Amino acid sequence: MSLLEVRDLVVDYRMGTTVVHALRGVSLEVDEGQFIGVVGESGCGKSTLGTAVVGVLGPPGFIVGGSIRFRGVELVGLDAAQRRALRHRGLALVPQAGMNALNPVRSIEGHFRDVLAGTGVRHRAEVRARAVSLLEQVALAPSVLRSYPHELSGGMRQRVALALALALEPQLVVFDEPTTALDVLVQRSVVDTIRSLQQARGFAAIFISHDIGLVASLASRVDVMYAGEVVEAGPTERVVARP
Ligand code: ADP
Ligand code: ADP
Repeated sequence: MSLLEVRDLVVDYRMGTTVVHALRGVSLEVDEGQFIGVVGESGCGKSTLGTAVVGVLGPPGFIVGGSIRFRGVELVGLDAAQRRALRHRGLALVPQAGMNALNPVRSIEGHFRDVLAGTGVRHRAEVRARAVSLLEQVALAPSVLRSYPHELSGGMRQRVALALALALEPQLVVFDEPTTALDVLVQRSVVDTIRSLQQARGFAAIFISHDIGLVASLASRVDVMYAGEVVEAGPTERVVARP
């Protein structure tokens, strides 16, 4: 059994009478500890796939068909509370840099308090100790806890998002364009951190990007999406080497 099995997943966005068919029957598997890349041009459905897998796809997005099994447990059809419980048992998302990954009116310590509360850690001193240790793993100083998102650089905010995802002790992390909004040198150092964290912790990963070179440097397998479908999948060498 794979860690994650997505079968014939169909997702629509419905706005009044307008329907966007974002995923038109996507299948994909991720084994324990495997690092896969999902590439494709803007609008092809990568984020939709990522958010559906982690269980955070919400209206106007609807799963209208197919199945998402995580460790054999079906995610499709669960209510929000059930999905949240499941997320806290192994799924995490690192959202796009610069997107609403962090709450602008909440301190970084507040973010850790919220995420750790979901894992049963509520005692203030314990939250702080866990947060400091997680920040250290992403090369951030403890003083960051007192900061608000706007006081940090883009790269630091993305490291905080990484640490928040790690707080869930995930077995599968979905990275959705985690470095796209960052400038090149910052991007490289965040990618290096992602790589070494994955090697140290052994979580499986789905790394979503439109940058095939970046994906090739990280992933052992690449799935190529086009217009809501996976049009090609295979070992990175084979997919990337195509002329
Ligand atoms: P990608 O991540 O590859 O850029 P997305 O998954 O974001 O692609 O989008 C897939 C399709 O779904 C696109 O046509 C996009 O416009 C549409 N879409 C995404 N999010 C929404 C939304 N919240 N409401 C309506 N349409 C959406
Ligand atoms: P739902 O609509 O399913 O209730 P929410 O939009 O309320 O989901 O998501 C908030 C939940 O996401 C919180 O329970 C929080 O602990 C959890 N969460 C916070 N950060 C992450 C992350 N990086 N990855 C996955 N889940 C997270």
